[in-house]
Amino acid sequence: MTAPARPDDCIFCKIVEGEIPAEIVHADETTVAFRDLNPQAPTHVLVIPRSHYENAAELARHEPVSAADMLVVASEVAEREGLAPGYRLVFNTGLEGGQVVFHAHLHLLGGRPMGWPPG
Ligand code: 5GP
Ligand code: ZN
Repeated sequence: MTAPARPDDCIFCKIVEGEIPAEIVHADETTVAFRDLNPQAPTHVLVIPRSHYENAAELARHEPVSAADMLVVASEVAEREGLAPGYRLVFNTGLEGGQVVFHAHLHLLGGRPMGWPPG
C-alpha cells in the first residue's frame, strides 16, 4: 500500500530522511527510533514509522505490520536500555491528547517509576 505523500514541513519525515539530525537508536525497513529532544524520563525514545501517517490509528489501518513493528522495536530498545523493571508506552493523539507532531510516534519512557494517572 502506498503511504500518503510526505508533507514538506514534517519534522519526523525529515529525521527519517536524515535531513535533520537525531540520536538514532534503531532503524529498520519500517521504523526508526531516536532519543526525544526534550526527555521526560532517563530513557525517552520515540519510535516512528518511516511512512507518514497523522496518528497511530491511521498507521494501523493502512500499515498494520508497521504498527506492530513499532511495539516490538519499543520492547527491544527497552531491553537494551535496561528497562526490565518496566516502562511506559504512549501514543498522544490529537491536540487534547498532547500531540504536537502529527506523524505517528510511540513514546518509550522509563528509568524512573511512572506516575498514574498521567497529567
Ligand atoms: P507529541 O507531544 O507529539 O506526542 O510528542 C512529540 C515529541 O517530539 C516531543 O516529546 C518532543 O520533545 C519531540 N520532538 C519534537 N521535535 C523534535 C526533534 O526535532 N528531534 C527530536 N529528537 N525530538 C523532537
Ligand atoms: Zn511525517
